[in-house]
Amino acid sequence: PAQDEGLPRRCEEGRGKKKEASAMRVLSVTPEFFPLVKTGGLADVAGALPLALAPLGVNARTLLPAYPAVRAALPDATPVAGLDELYGGPVRLLQAATDEGAELLLLDAPHLYDRPGNIYLAPTGSDWPDNHRRFAALCRVAQLIGSGLLPDWQPDLVHGHDWQAGLAAAYLALAGGPRPATVLTVHNLAFQGWVPAASFVELGLPATAFAIEGVEYYGGAGMLKAGLYFADRLSTVSPTYAREIQTPEHGMGLDGLMRARAGDLVGITNGIDTEVWDPARDPHLAAPYSAADPAPKAASKAALQARLGLEQRPQTCMFCIVSRFTQQKGIDLVLEALPTLLGYDTQLAVLGSGEPVLEQGWAAAAAAHPGRIGYVSGYDEPLSHLMQGGADAILVPSRFEPCGLTQLIGLRYGTLPVVARVGGLADTVIDANEAALADEVATGIQFAPVTALALIEAVHRTMALFANPDAWAATVRRAMTRDVGWTRAAQHYLALYRDALRRVPG
Ligand code: ADP
Repeated sequence: PAQDEGLPRRCEEGRGKKKEASAMRVLSVTPEFFPLVKTGGLADVAGALPLALAPLGVNARTLLPAYPAVRAALPDATPVAGLDELYGGPVRLLQAATDEGAELLLLDAPHLYDRPGNIYLAPTGSDWPDNHRRFAALCRVAQLIGSGLLPDWQPDLVHGHDWQAGLAAAYLALAGGPRPATVLTVHNLAFQGWVPAASFVELGLPATAFAIEGVEYYGGAGMLKAGLYFADRLSTVSPTYAREIQTPEHGMGLDGLMRARAGDLVGITNGIDTEVWDPARDPHLAAPYSAADPAPKAASKAALQARLGLEQRPQTCMFCIVSRFTQQKGIDLVLEALPTLLGYDTQLAVLGSGEPVLEQGWAAAAAAHPGRIGYVSGYDEPLSHLMQGGADAILVPSRFEPCGLTQLIGLRYGTLPVVARVGGLADTVIDANEAALADEVATGIQFAPVTALALIEAVHRTMALFANPDAWAATVRRAMTRDVGWTRAAQHYLALYRDALRRVPG
């Protein structure tokens, strides 16, 4: 039957008896997993996708490093396998499940992962010098699981996330013999896991793999490139980003390979976890609200103004920013536009940390304009909820954005996204131009090019819409009722998996 197309033969025995027996088995390989360990949107995706795939008959397990925070959250994890030596020490594979029901395989390797603070950075702020070994180890274990390390569970498909999982596809492809199908998802092409040629031997690949048709990349080895070259199928996190990365402007040096593999590449727009992000049930808001009853949003606006020391002004249009502070995110453009933006009746609520010059810029702006600008430095999950619940609009001026999650949260919270027309931002927000307003489809504001001037124009248009309470309310209602959950994306991933399974040799 058509719906079973692509299921591997050994799974067919139990068909029609028990759903579990015929389920497609997928090993997800990821460096981050919400809610256990997160530095960016990748964690949200890796955390949500297995749960969204379960009702579609996918039996997923997620392999991730047993960082200290992960061990602390899952003290009952039980050992299921071990190796005497992997990159300088013994390792164990632990099995655990989250409260939400996700099944995990944790790579417990104290010599690689038992370190304080940010998972990628040493206390100096630089990448750990052995990051390539830390994630090569993760990929090696993914390969071993793919080859039958666990007697009771062997995946049909290995789905890697970003450069940290790139080598899994390479190890599996180069091992020879039957193997699971492989898929690699690019969450951000800017992070490539490049190492100099001298480190290539440490990756444990055959010397022949050090070639253009392989992992060689600008004279060194690319761990992302390895995955992009060897995985059966590729995806990225929005259709527009899938097109953009095939161009020199956004391809980050990999556009040639992306073009060569265009037929194997799809863009699947992320969802958000609509349980975690639900203004009707969000404990971090001052009062619950919904599309049917949006008025109580005002209580969170007042709470946010109080929290950030902003003037209590219900009628002032409040913009928020929730972001990592990097060049990518275009936060500097908002600073550049500030003199003009402060000429309008606006408030700005900013949460984020990263590049010191941007942190200093926002701290100085907030100090110079108390009551108008509130800035909180750091990563603060509860405050990010209150910002989305309290602000009227969210600014996302990214220079590039593979998908972006904060604009999706903004839609769900009726906090209209004002976004640069790039990547997933272009795919998820419908600009409130005249035609879109007349057709009653607008959900936010888009601008291009990504400059301070275009941002100012976008804020100006947002203010004009805000000044028209009926049009604003209608747009908010529409935004809040957009489908931003995971169901649609999960169906696309299932189709991608079936496609990959059809192509795997052996
Ligand atoms: P990226 O992965 O590039 O950082 P995304 O928009 O895909 O950007 O995902 C960012 C995620 O991290 C969102 O869930 C957002 O709410 C969250 N986030 C970003 N910065 C902060 C912060 N300073 N405090 C709390 N949450 C943050």
